[in-house]
Amino acid sequence: MPYQVTEKCLKCGYCVERCPEGAIIADAKIEFERWTLQPVHIDPDLCNDCGTCVSEEWWCPAQAIVPA
Ligand code: SF4
Ligand code: SF4
Repeated sequence: MPYQVTEKCLKCGYCVERCPEGAIIADAKIEFERWTLQPVHIDPDLCNDCGTCVSEEWWCPAQAIVPA
């Protein structure tokens, strides 16, 4: 079962580089002043259900990633 990003996402973009399969995709880069927002989604064809992004060591500040 792949995972998905919910509306709780803060668009911080931290997860994009950390998914081992490259399944977390940045949809855009929204820059203003010193901040960059990166809305993301998970490609279900690339996600291999490894569970890293929902593990206790995971760093999503919003716990925005859930099973689809
Ligand atoms: S780490 Fe979490 S809050 Fe940040 S962009 Fe990824 S899913 Fe959204
Ligand atoms: S379950 Fe694994 S492959 Fe799928 S999005 Fe999360 S970290 Fe990436």
